[in-house]
Amino acid sequence: MFKQFISWRRNLFMLMLMQLFIYSHTAHSKLLCFGWQFENRHFSGKGFQVIACSVTVPVRNGYFQFLLEQISWCSSATTLIINLDKWRTNAHSFIGGETMRKAKDWNQPCPDKKCEMYGQMNKGNIISKATYPTKSGKRRIFKCNCCCRSFSETGDTVFSDLKTPEEKVVMALKMILMRASLSGICHILGVKEETILNWQDRACQKADMINKVLLKDVSVTEVQSDEMWSFVKKKMNGDKEGDITEKERCEAEEGRQWIQVSYAPEFRLIPAMVAGPRTFENALLLIQMTAGIVFGVPCFFSDGFSSYPPALIECYHLIKTFPKTGQRGRPKNPVKEPDKDLVYGQAVKERKKGRIAGVTHRIIVGAEKFLNSGLKISTSLLERQNLTIRHSLAPLGGKTLNFSKKRDNLKKQTVFFQAFYNFARPHMSLREKVETHDLLFVRRWAPGTPGMAAGLTDHVWSFRELLTVKSDHAP
Ligand SMILES: [Zn+2]
Repeated sequence: MFKQFISWRRNLFMLMLMQLFIYSHTAHSKLLCFGWQFENRHFSGKGFQVIACSVTVPVRNGYFQFLLEQISWCSSATTLIINLDKWRTNAHSFIGGETMRKAKDWNQPCPDKKCEMYGQMNKGNIISKATYPTKSGKRRIFKCNCCCRSFSETGDTVFSDLKTPEEKVVMALKMILMRASLSGICHILGVKEETILNWQDRACQKADMINKVLLKDVSVTEVQSDEMWSFVKKKMNGDKEGDITEKERCEAEEGRQWIQVSYAPEFRLIPAMVAGPRTFENALLLIQMTAGIVFGVPCFFSDGFSSYPPALIECYHLIKTFPKTGQRGRPKNPVKEPDKDLVYGQAVKERKKGRIAGVTHRIIVGAEKFLNSGLKISTSLLERQNLTIRHSLAPLGGKTLNFSKKRDNLKKQTVFFQAFYNFARPHMSLREKVETHDLLFVRRWAPGTPGMAAGLTDHVWSFRELLTVKSDHAP
């Protein structure tokens, strides 16, 4: 679709249309010619400078809308400059974002595991066969030419086989991430709790797939990790500490639970989140998940939680063997030593009457490399991040009745939040300034997400994309 767009002939055609449009301008004018619709956003007087102009092109299933930015019209030189790069990004984000229905490539992989072309995209084996009406508009049926299997465009997405309109499902899932309580969502949308939990289940599966496919080989220098207290069903596992054993406490589905988060501050990216008790096993799981995503050995910083040092050594270590001494007796067993590239520092807070009295910084492993790196031990960005998580998920809000009733639901919500946060939620500090030639509208910003900053994706994902994206890389 876009390749057609950037052909020179089409550009010349555009240029002519644009001229026509500019000559016949009034503020917020619309011009429909040859099926192409232009709408100007900002218009500045006699110099004719169009700052943003949207072009709507009718296609089979509706309209594609492009926002053309940075078009400057210079009356003396009579040239029209269209920033094609900008145009390309906007066009891409729109096609990828709002609709799965593309005229040319459908981005649909064959869902049959027995098929030779299973999971492969844009290989020419998928054809569009028919359409069928639903409450949410027309949907397409595809057919794989290789195995002759037919499938719906919503197959393997959150909306698969749902009778509820898409809009309602999207609304419910958005509300989960906007700190609305489950009972509140049920009340507003008139749906049962189980239904919403079912939708959340599907969204979690999709989010898990996105995390597995996209979070790979991220080159980071620093990883912070921290835990957030929460609870499931009841605040304490036993009335007194001695009531149940430590093992029982860890395996209990109810009671005190922690959300352990690792965080790459340079991209504001969350590589891993683990919900469960605050134990060595979960700390190890968090470090292992993070290590599987980051490239090389980054510097790790955390609070004073004692399980992180052994978990890190378990993950990044060298085996030291002892040579035979020639003396009697069994030789020493090999031991695990921290990897020579590993740096680990703790920022331990001292509290007096609930207030922070001071912070002690200490380097546990790799002091020399730490001094050369010029980094500071800090977990402050992650602590602010924890606040964002608490503000997004109702069960973590505290001092409300919105706490989770099942640990599984809490886990699912964290997975869903992680994918949403990394790919679909623009981060204020990651926005990029867009250069414009206009004097009146100097500040224009392009939104950025952690995934974009880390180079994992090239656009801000729409919410629908988060629920419907299909991948040709099987996780
Ligand atoms: Zn097939």
